[in-house]
Amino acid sequence: MAQLLYSPHTTAEEALLPEVDLTPADPWLLGDTIGSERAAGLDAAISGLRAALGARRVVDVNSTPAGGGVAEMLYRILRYTRGAGVDARWFTIEADPAFFALTKRLHHLLHGQDAAGPSLDAHTAAHYAAVGEANARALLRSVRPGDLVTLHDPQTAGLAPALHRAGVRVVWRSHIGTDAHDEFTDRAWAFLRPFLETVDAFVFSRTQYVPTWLTERHVAVIQPSIDPLSAKNRPLDDDAAAAIVRRMGLRAGRRPRERALYRRGDGSVGVVHREPVSLHSLAPPPAEAPLILQISRWDPLKDMAGVMSSFATDTTSLDGAHLALVGPDVTGVTDDPEGSRVFAGCVELWHRLPPRSRARIHLACLPMADAEENAVMVSALQRQATVIAQKSLAEGFGLTVTEAMWKSRPVVASAVGGIRDQIQHGVHGLLLEDPHDRAAFAAEAGGLLRDDGLAASLGAGARSRALEQFLDDRQLCQQSALYQVLAAA
Ligand code: UDP
Repeated sequence: MAQLLYSPHTTAEEALLPEVDLTPADPWLLGDTIGSERAAGLDAAISGLRAALGARRVVDVNSTPAGGGVAEMLYRILRYTRGAGVDARWFTIEADPAFFALTKRLHHLLHGQDAAGPSLDAHTAAHYAAVGEANARALLRSVRPGDLVTLHDPQTAGLAPALHRAGVRVVWRSHIGTDAHDEFTDRAWAFLRPFLETVDAFVFSRTQYVPTWLTERHVAVIQPSIDPLSAKNRPLDDDAAAAIVRRMGLRAGRRPRERALYRRGDGSVGVVHREPVSLHSLAPPPAEAPLILQISRWDPLKDMAGVMSSFATDTTSLDGAHLALVGPDVTGVTDDPEGSRVFAGCVELWHRLPPRSRARIHLACLPMADAEENAVMVSALQRQATVIAQKSLAEGFGLTVTEAMWKSRPVVASAVGGIRDQIQHGVHGLLLEDPHDRAAFAAEAGGLLRDDGLAASLGAGARSRALEQFLDDRQLCQQSALYQVLAAA
């Protein structure tokens, strides 16, 4: 058991970083979904990496084992990497609340948004550097010179200098960014840049996110991906999905003694027995009512409140439809200090709505205690939704969008950041040019509810797009290519 880094009784020399358990998964398992040609390409890519690495390890470091897209993706990618015979590890950093308040501010600034939070002064930089150094010292007890370590997002950039000094090859990957560089992004880069000077390679989700000061450096653009075999994305039949959603209180018609069953990854039968840890709903949506769903962390940039206002003020397009706003348990995502406040704001807004609107809007926080059960809840909701919304004000790359596309759902999403690469308007979903335009959001979503033919064709387009572009084999191939270059350097 790792000792907590910030325990007053623990010296830095004794501390270890928490390591996330990874059960290996053979990448050949993807063959049934991606076809033999792509599977052979993947095998060749990973074999090349294995040979280039020799005894060296591939290590990823982020700030949370669960909650949000980075954790979601790392778990799947690292399982396949390990299943291919590479010694892959995943560690999470430990830090105090002031540190996470700072890194959340940097997150918003890198998205081009102003945000309250600690000032980016020398005192804050010293604290950030100290946390990074302490975490790097702890990590270095599990990492050897020559290993390849990928640090994710602003929370981990402070580890880079110490890892470099120890002879580790360091990649820094940013999952956030904005197309337009402005005074906010400049402030975040000015803060982070001193910690990134010795990094060997950088990864961004979109070319436009790469800051100009990195032009001479080794940069790769790799879009995030999903695993078609994960609990969230593997097939789940309609009846099972409907029973799970009824169990969660987000559809009416629960039958006496009905059980919400699903097949677990190990082949055993699972039963969804938990309910949302928090549910604000006057009564579940009727079985036949169209359901619009947005699933996100409770983050201001996901604009859950904007979706709710749009829905509540619309008087025509969305009449008769219900809206579910669903996110993780706000106590379960340690590196996101805003979750409780944002969720509380949504609940307050919901209470202020007229009863007629409130009756059609449902807020739920999902339990995180069992990751597989949580994933099945998300999957069931996505499959049962009539339309999936992602009205983000900024988005590095939306995994929830890809998850919905993979399930052939019609999506209405803001034309921001990586979502522009995910969806071509009118082919794989609908894009909202101005993410602040609540009337346009209601009109787009309402249009889809009335036009089954359009919804079906966008759903089919979305599924093909996800299959071609956004599954894990593509990311594993790109990552193997990058690591091979670094291992050889
Ligand atoms: N998610 C989840 N449970 C929830 C809410 C979200 O598992 O209650 C997952 C969601 O399915 C997706 C990830 O969290 O896989 C969010 O990733 P995305 O890239 O959309 O946004 P991020 O949180 O990284 O900004």
